Amino acid sequence: MDYFLTTDPWVRKALSEPVGVEDLTLLSDIAADKAVDNLRTRLKADLIYGSIGAVLLSVNPFKPIEGMYSPGVFDVYRGRARHELPSHIFGLTESAYTAMLDKGENQAIVITGESGAGKTEAAKKILEYLAAATTGSTPELLRVKEIFLESNPLLEAFGNAKTVRNDNSSRFGKYFALFFKGSGDAVGGRITKYLLEKSRVVKQSPNERNFHIFYQVVAAANQGIEKSAAVQSKLSTIQGCKPQDFDFLNRSGCFTVHGVDDAKEYRTVQHAMQVCGISEEDRASLMGILVAILWLGNVQFVANPAGNAQIQDLGPADKAAALLEIPGKLLQDALVSRAITSGGRGSTYFSPQTVPQAEEARNALAKALYSNSFDWIVSKVNEAIGVVDSKSCVSIGVLDIYGFEILEHNSFEQFCINYVNEKLQQIFITLTLRGEQEEYKAEGISWEPVQFFDNKVVCDLIEKRGGILSTLDDCCKQMMKQGGGEVDAEFIKRCIDTVRHDHLEIDTKFGRESDVTKFDIKHYAGKVTYDIEGLSDKNRDSVHDELLNVAQGSSNALMQQLFPPKAAGAGRAQVKTAGSQIKDQAAQLVIDLSSAVPHYIRCIKPNQSKQPGDFDVDFTLHQVQYLGLMENVRIRRAGFAYRNSMARFLFRYACICPETWPQCDDLIAGTHAVLKMAGVDEAGYRIGKTKVFVRHPDPLLVLEDLRKE
Ligand code: ATP
Ligand code: MG
Repeated sequence: MDYFLTTDPWVRKALSEPVGVEDLTLLSDIAADKAVDNLRTRLKADLIYGSIGAVLLSVNPFKPIEGMYSPGVFDVYRGRARHELPSHIFGLTESAYTAMLDKGENQAIVITGESGAGKTEAAKKILEYLAAATTGSTPELLRVKEIFLESNPLLEAFGNAKTVRNDNSSRFGKYFALFFKGSGDAVGGRITKYLLEKSRVVKQSPNERNFHIFYQVVAAANQGIEKSAAVQSKLSTIQGCKPQDFDFLNRSGCFTVHGVDDAKEYRTVQHAMQVCGISEEDRASLMGILVAILWLGNVQFVANPAGNAQIQDLGPADKAAALLEIPGKLLQDALVSRAITSGGRGSTYFSPQTVPQAEEARNALAKALYSNSFDWIVSKVNEAIGVVDSKSCVSIGVLDIYGFEILEHNSFEQFCINYVNEKLQQIFITLTLRGEQEEYKAEGISWEPVQFFDNKVVCDLIEKRGGILSTLDDCCKQMMKQGGGEVDAEFIKRCIDTVRHDHLEIDTKFGRESDVTKFDIKHYAGKVTYDIEGLSDKNRDSVHDELLNVAQGSSNALMQQLFPPKAAGAGRAQVKTAGSQIKDQAAQLVIDLSSAVPHYIRCIKPNQSKQPGDFDVDFTLHQVQYLGLMENVRIRRAGFAYRNSMARFLFRYACICPETWPQCDDLIAGTHAVLKMAGVDEAGYRIGKTKVFVRHPDPLLVLEDLRKE
């Protein structure tokens, strides 16, 4: 075959000598440690990709691998069937792309794996491959491609941050879909974002950074690289300041990222904004809002003799107010006092706030400013890509979402992230099993079910009525009505009383219910302990009314879009809690993914040092276990480990058998003859309408040996 003649050095190398097995279903011993061993051997030889049937495995090499994504490799994979070539993300993307065009079905590529495993890099490679595969030159196509490629640095600047696990960690989930016409050219797209980790705006763990964009803005202000006078005027209020000068940046002890030049990134991001159709005026307002957030962080409160909060130094508050284009006095008042409506008649009085309450209000405003800005950017990108009638198109979607997280302290953010991962695992289980079933059915082969852990019970615990999310919502609502109180404590009390479940553990043996500060959930990927403190605040996720009124009163056009005034007569808007938002989004995601043909990439992180060449066996083993890779292998093998079209099967193995070599006219008879030659008895394989299914992988090894002879 011509690809054996390819001169591309990477493909030649990958094709040359087998290193371990490429497809884990072919392991002679299906134990997790053997699988890890295999991954290690292959990684050492720079073979980062492997598979379990149709699932692509990708192990992060933490170094560029020469030639692996070169145009030469692209050319080899373009237009070829996936199983003909070594596992590669290009192969998976190509098969999704051609399946979409040939069958007219929507495709979805789901990338999972833990933080730093390589999901975002994989998503970028998919996008680059699709951009290269669509070669038309219509202005429409060029626009869509350019915006999609440029939206990446823009969204990463606002949505990614350095964490201890990953220098460029995505702190939001992203699903991007590209819409194609029948001819194969992209005509539009849509980006959906999931749950930004906005608590990072006001607080970061040790050795982590705030979102990249803040450091870029500070660097730009100092280096005078901004060319627009309008934008520069916003940056000028922090000229001469360092990240160390801002409380939202200086509490974690980390200011720079190895190998990253924040000023250079600033230029890239500003250019991306222009490509994505953000006007200079809006860009100036947006930079102004970022600078305002930094100043807000420096607003400090002290208690007056009556114990009420007052602003220590009006300087930062006034700067923030000026940048947000709101009256300084209004902002000050809204930070330190709060209107309380009481009694049946709804009379209102102003209640002074304590220092912690004022700090909470300040932080809530900063987070709302940032997350509303982020949402606005996503909507601008979508606007620029152009809305298409998705019904008249076919699409490829790529899901790059935060992986399962178990930190030392897990809070609401981890709870939501892990919940979404439960949902993804659930879809994976349903779709891979369903996929198998359908293939057998289409080929007329009978199917024998396999046992595996179905995590639906954990999803139910979290999302069903009477489960964790609805209990938390009920507590939040009730306590709001009662005018505050210990919501977190009430929540855990109700969990103990009413949410009984095998996968929920609350340890009450060392004291009273009110002493309980944590609960455990047995997730499919392991047990996670969540802190109760702060759950309800993060779930309510609200800025109190006075601050909201102040923000809504801004004379800045962008601020008016970020904080639209309440519709007249709407009263107190029913704001959705963060928990119910993520639940709705997860439900929508399930609908989107279920209506497309799924493709899976499981990313694996081989160490925590982020160094090439370092392989941590236990750490990798844990991922292999919780990603359910061995179950995946077993499901695949309990059915038929190997399947291929008879034509391709004979193309490879006809040479071992005199009845099929050099001439074979009858595919079915030829397939029987080859398998007989390899000693496979009739129970060990099935022949369907077009494909051959071999139950165990061993005969394939025999066939491979015979072939070499
Ligand atoms: P998070 O969940 O934190 O967003 P992630 O899974 O998206 O993590 P990436 O940001 O894609 O992780 O990868 C982390 C780093 O690992 C990259 O910045 C890059 O240095 C390296 N890396 C990932 N994939 C590859 C690859 N295929 N080749 C070389 N290096 C890679
Ligand atoms: Mg990422």
